[in-house]
Amino acid sequence: MNFDLSEENEAFRAVVADFARSEIAPHAERWDAEHIFPTDVVLAMGELGLFGLPFPEEYGGSGAGLTTLCVAIEELAKVDASMAITLEAGVSLGASPIAHFGTEEQKQRWLPDLCAGKALGGFGLTEPDAGSDAGGTRTRADLDETTGEWVLNGEKAFITNSGTDITSLVTFTARTGPGEISAIIVPSGTPGLEVQSPYRKMGWHASDTHGLTLTDCRVPEENLLGERGRGFAQFLSILDEGRVAIAALALGTIETCLAESVRYANERRSFGRPIGSYQGVAFQCADMAVMADNARLLTYRAAWLRDQGRPFKQEAAKAKLYTSEAAVSATRTATQIFGGYGFMDETPVSRMYRDSKILEIGEGTSEIQRLIIGRGLGLPLE
Ligand SMILES: Cc1cc2nc3c(=O)[nH]c(=O)nc-3n(C[C@H](O)[C@H](O)[C@H](O)COP(=O)(O)OP(=O)(O)OC[C@H]3O[C@@H](n4cnc5c(N)ncnc54)[C@H](O)[C@@H]3O)c2cc1C
Repeated sequence: MNFDLSEENEAFRAVVADFARSEIAPHAERWDAEHIFPTDVVLAMGELGLFGLPFPEEYGGSGAGLTTLCVAIEELAKVDASMAITLEAGVSLGASPIAHFGTEEQKQRWLPDLCAGKALGGFGLTEPDAGSDAGGTRTRADLDETTGEWVLNGEKAFITNSGTDITSLVTFTARTGPGEISAIIVPSGTPGLEVQSPYRKMGWHASDTHGLTLTDCRVPEENLLGERGRGFAQFLSILDEGRVAIAALALGTIETCLAESVRYANERRSFGRPIGSYQGVAFQCADMAVMADNARLLTYRAAWLRDQGRPFKQEAAKAKLYTSEAAVSATRTATQIFGGYGFMDETPVSRMYRDSKILEIGEGTSEIQRLIIGRGLGLPLE
């Protein structure tokens, strides 16, 4: 057994932590308050090599594993969930489908900029009436044989990184025939692709999220990603890696809640003593420390299995389920420990409280993770 990350990963962690502390932490509160997507900082994350971590060097990646990506996401999440999700979605949802299923030509065309963080890709699976049940996709893509083009019509909801200044593409799932869902790449700016106004969200204010409308949107036939009719299955397989990355995001959140709560419990006094001297507060910190350890072990076990080329679907679901629910608990507890200050916007744990709820929803809700785990146990779940 070895519970240590490699020396390379720890050295890399220090670099990302330094970047997060100096380039993100001082601005996170303002971006949150003003709903700003900081394109320049995202480009700087690209220069640091974060967006190319798990991709082959020939496309500008660094050939590192999911473990290394998790280290980067964990460190960003310690200071700002919005930048952590921008990286997570850029890699797991934007670039990964192309890296996994793209033709050589598609990889050459799209991956270098995505790996360099000069461009972001979106992943258009969810629709206003189909989220958990993404097989209920209504968006259609009909092949116009005369022009050799796909004609897309439909609507997608809640698509991350889909409307930034540097978004280069969105991969859409669409019905291409009876019982057939395929994935099709639509470059940004294609006539017929309308990016709706940004949502007003409970959290993740500095992350870019839009609804998208497709109206007779035409792209060349060769923009089909992977096999025709396999789009849904492809996306499901991509989501397993994304779930481990979301677990890393939750882990970073819990770790900051723990550190901030211990610091505050030592400093803040009531009835003449530090609040940390009361068991009611100290035990909450102890519970958070257990959550942080559990979250770390589940996250890095799943990432390690993936990097070993071993099955990891169940472990990814368990990591996502546990860490996201623990992050919601930890942020609630930390906010309580901060008392009235916990309710103030300038206290980081207050932003983390709002930012954490989505972790139980995005990339498969907690109920969907329980469904996957239950099926893995051999239960006849529908
Ligand atoms: C900020 C944000 C960013 C997002 N980014 C993206 C993105 O980039 N790309 C993308 O495609 N999607 C994205 N999503 C969508 C997200 O993945 C979905 O919201 C999520 O999968 C849930 O789908 P839904 O909202 O349709 O909820 P529903 O599927 O309608 O679920 C509603 C409730 O019913 C429960 N439920 C549904 N089915 C079952 C069942 N069989 N058993 C038990 N309970 C069930 C759910 O768990 C949930 O509690 C994003 C969402 C948000 C909020």
